[in-house]
Amino acid sequence: MSLVENLNKIKNTIPANITLVAVSKTKPVEDIQTLYNAGQRVFGENKVQEMVAKQEVLPKDIEWHLIGNLQRNKVKYIAPFVSLIHSVDSYNLLKEINKQAKRHERIIPCLLQIKIAQEESKYGLDFSDAEELLTQLSEFPHIEIQGLMGMSTFTDDMEQVKAEFQSLKNFYDQIQPKYPFIKILSMGMSGDYPLAIELGSNMVRVGSSIFGERNYP
Ligand SMILES: *Cc1c(COP(=O)(O)O)cnc(C)c1O
Repeated sequence: MSLVENLNKIKNTIPANITLVAVSKTKPVEDIQTLYNAGQRVFGENKVQEMVAKQEVLPKDIEWHLIGNLQRNKVKYIAPFVSLIHSVDSYNLLKEINKQAKRHERIIPCLLQIKIAQEESKYGLDFSDAEELLTQLSEFPHIEIQGLMGMSTFTDDMEQVKAEFQSLKNFYDQIQPKYPFIKILSMGMSGDYPLAIELGSNMVRVGSSIFGERNYP
């Protein structure tokens, strides 16, 4: 199947109110342009340099989402244009994003990344640290926290994935009345996005099911 067929197949199976982030990491700008021509505007990248290089040559109305671990010293490169940072996991990172957003006279939308997976390799805040950060947001007038992001454990055990997504949805439901600006729940990738949507996700990050398997050098 072609890229556009892959995209449309996924779009046809998810409700219209769910944002599809097409995860284009490691894929060439030609592929992104092809999907752009078919109407896709939201793309996700996990590396700052790669996102900046693609942003420079592609149409300027693309919404670029940073979905990977973000080092503080690299925030400055994406601050002028990034649409949403999914991977905020510390006070110090918020502080740097706020500083760079201010320099560019803008407000940068962000999600708090919550660690729900059982793997050591996954980044993110635990629930109590996230709650504490939410009480400190007045220090960051150039940041708009719009929601939460989580990644499940890489496993075929769908019961485990389900429990992890459910735990994030429960936390979302618990804090949402107190922090009504929390509106986005970013969970679900190629292997688990239908389950994530069933469990309340409203933003899915899909890479290989659209672009094909990634070839890492
Ligand atoms: C790579 C990546 C995705 C997409 O993964 P696929 O399994 O290819 O859909 C989603 N979210 C994050 C944070 C990623 O790094």
